[in-house]
Amino acid sequence: MTDVKYVFVTGGVTSSLGKGIISASLAKLLQARGYSVTIQKLDPYINVDPGTLNPYEHGECYVTLDGAETDLDLGHYERFLNVPTSQANNVTTGRIYQSVINKERKGDYLGKTVQVIPHITDEIKRRIKLVSSGNKFDIVITEIGGTVGDIESLPYIESVRQLKWELGAQNCIVIHLTLVPYLSSTGESKTKPTQHSVKELLETGIQPDVLVLRTERHLNEDIKRKVALFCNVEENAVIESVDVSTIYEVPIKMLDQGLDRTVLRKLALPVESEPPLTEWREFLTKLKNPKHFIKVGLVGKYVELPDAYKSIAESFIHSGAMNECEIDVEYIHSEDITEKNVIDRLSGLNGILVAPGFGSRGIEGKILTAKYARENNIPFLGICLGMQCAVIEFARNVLKLEGAHSTEINYKTKYPVIDLMVEQKSIIDKGGTMRLGGYKCIISKNSKTYEAYGKTEIVERHRHRYEFNNKYFDDFKKNGMVPVGINPESNLVEIMEISDHKWFIGVQFHPEYSSTVINPHPLFVHFIKACIG
Ligand code: GLN
Repeated sequence: MTDVKYVFVTGGVTSSLGKGIISASLAKLLQARGYSVTIQKLDPYINVDPGTLNPYEHGECYVTLDGAETDLDLGHYERFLNVPTSQANNVTTGRIYQSVINKERKGDYLGKTVQVIPHITDEIKRRIKLVSSGNKFDIVITEIGGTVGDIESLPYIESVRQLKWELGAQNCIVIHLTLVPYLSSTGESKTKPTQHSVKELLETGIQPDVLVLRTERHLNEDIKRKVALFCNVEENAVIESVDVSTIYEVPIKMLDQGLDRTVLRKLALPVESEPPLTEWREFLTKLKNPKHFIKVGLVGKYVELPDAYKSIAESFIHSGAMNECEIDVEYIHSEDITEKNVIDRLSGLNGILVAPGFGSRGIEGKILTAKYARENNIPFLGICLGMQCAVIEFARNVLKLEGAHSTEINYKTKYPVIDLMVEQKSIIDKGGTMRLGGYKCIISKNSKTYEAYGKTEIVERHRHRYEFNNKYFDDFKKNGMVPVGINPESNLVEIMEISDHKWFIGVQFHPEYSSTVINPHPLFVHFIKACIG
């Protein structure tokens, strides 16, 4: 028997249908009804975590407070639920195999042949339960990455089948998300791909309990009834998920169709009155009725794939709504910015954000961008590598340290204003070895950063190896780029601010990871305020 209820979300027909958003929306509705809910993502790839993945592969790597490098869907979970996730919320095939192989080496399997079934599936089931150990949550929603029918996801699907059998239908349900394409030539929405996808799932032994149909156009009752009949689900368990202008509208759409009620009923949990979602609706109203319009440049080197900057883009949405401001984010490739075109490229922007990143590609464009923002009094937010570029620029052009650089880019530089942390110097492995997760920082009272946070002690999430070099601390401070945020344990500089500038802040940490709908990040909120200025 179990006290925790499990909801699995699988996907069919194609990837990128938005399982993460559906999971987060359902979780939001259940949370609004007073249940404690968490969401977990199981990723069928062999990397132990996405920390070593190029952002072009799966988009941004999201970092949790406990220092896990995770899938970007965890960002959606936190932004919707306003509750932190942790390492247990993201498990990859690599991590599963790693623990099984470690156990095998220790001799834990007592001479048995170690196999996908039962050893890998047992480990998957253990990880699914681990996230709610000690009955921390009433409901766990587990999203299975990939598409049903993929070779990689088979062990996960088999684990879900076993759990459904072990825990019973009232404790474990499956929501299957599919696509209903619209054929303009015949003017019809087609259900066949959904039928095939459900058949595929049935072959693995799983009868889905709820179907969510992604669609460009509204589906009429006939289509829903047809899907219900042929896929063997209740009529009110067929829900459409029609394209909307913002992902934050999805919970409302799901509420209107009673997805949460259907789920609760199937899990034999009480369904009480509708959740009002007051704060959520207020946020949507502000988002849709802006009073100000600004254009902000996001300068980075992965701009071809906006998912690479997912959390930053969402932070703009949260802080924009709070300021009743529509933000047109222009993605600007840092490699395209040169001494010659910098004015042309960046003029007309109300604010500039220089993005995080790794390696030398496009770095000079980011440094030129910081110079432009500093000299032209344009509100500037530099995040991680963005802060480091602002520091390099200031060193070169204000402190006149010619050739100043980060040792990440030029390890022979005469002026290593950004340098590897001492404890990083002996590390060879790339996976999970950066300075990761939440660290404390103390903010000086006389600063714009303090105005934003309204407090002196903060905890923010990190993901980097390089740091501001404290050898140059006094030089920077004397000349107006002031270290206003310091880590109280290590003395590392976490925040730099130019005092005689309209709003110029660089942070070594990632504020974008902790911005949510209900709690937009104060640095973003104040950055946007300055841009509206
Ligand atoms: N590459 C830089 C470092 O490792 C910055 C990392 C980042 O922007 N996340 O320190």
